Amino acid sequence: MEINNNNQDNTINFVSFKSALSWDEYFMLQAMIAAFKSKDPATKVGSVFVDQNNHQITMGYNGFVAGIDESRVPWGKDKSAPLEFQKYGYVVHSEANAILHASRSLEGSRAYVTLFPCNECAKLIASSKVKEVIYLSDKHLETESNRIAKKIFELSGVSFRPLTLRAEILTHLLEHLQNLLTDI
Ligand SMILES: [Zn+2]
Repeated sequence: MEINNNNQDNTINFVSFKSALSWDEYFMLQAMIAAFKSKDPATKVGSVFVDQNNHQITMGYNGFVAGIDESRVPWGKDKSAPLEFQKYGYVVHSEANAILHASRSLEGSRAYVTLFPCNECAKLIASSKVKEVIYLSDKHLETESNRIAKKIFELSGVSFRPLTLRAEILTHLLEHLQNLLTDI
């Protein structure tokens, strides 16, 4: 029997579709997950560097110097102790870790960071010719380090902007993760 294809609805599979996330949101969530990996009990920071094609180049989170015996260095941040007995003596920031582990050039890339970079990381970011920094929090606003970081970015032509995650993103993400788990 001959099938008359003309009677079929050939538009049936052309459903409308849209990603739940923008690229900005996607990479900021990646940076947030990187931060989640940090062992720092006080401040967990993550960063992700992305090229012009929205491909991730590298990521990092704040942690002790690679290969160090972590049982012999402190996570405490009490500045009444000498630097030798504060975490600040031994921690590598998320952006520095990401830049150290990048296997290709960061020139022209965008950096997604959960916290606005300090001046030391700003030096590395600007020297790596990163084009733009997108940040979630700027809680150290008006500190000297923050002012220097912004001055470095302005003088070297690195643009920066805050990103506010839509509140429903976290609800959607949780629902998505739960669905993945129930599918196992
Ligand atoms: Zn830093």
